[in-house]
Amino acid sequence: MKRIFHRIREKNKAIARERITKLFAMAEEAYKENHELANRYVSLARKIQMKYRTRMPAELRKKFCKHCLHFLVPSKNCRVRLQKDHIVYYCLDCKKFTRFVHKGSKNPKKKAN
Ligand SMILES: [Zn+2]
Repeated sequence: MKRIFHRIREKNKAIARERITKLFAMAEEAYKENHELANRYVSLARKIQMKYRTRMPAELRKKFCKHCLHFLVPSKNCRVRLQKDHIVYYCLDCKKFTRFVHKGSKNPKKKAN
C-alpha cells in the first residue's frame, strides 16, 4: 500500500514541477506588460511547490524574491552583486537580500537557499 502512495506522490511531484516551470514562463511573458500578473504567477508557483513539497528548480530559484514572492528581473527590480563566494540579489520591491552560493564555491558546507 505504501508503495502505491509513494508512486502517486512521485507522479504528483513531477506534475507540480512541470506546472511550476510553466508558471514561471508565463510570468516572464507577463512581466513585460503587467508586473502584478507576473507576481501572481510566482505566488501560484510557490503555492504549488509548497503543497507538493518539491524543490524549486535551481534555475528558477533566482527568478523570484523569497521574501515578497515578486518576479525578479535583474536591472529592472533587483540588483545583482557578487561577493566572495556568494551572489547577492537585492530586491528593490521589499529591500531585502537573498544570497546564493557561487557555483565554484569551495566550501561545500554552505548550502544555497
Ligand atoms: Zn522582495
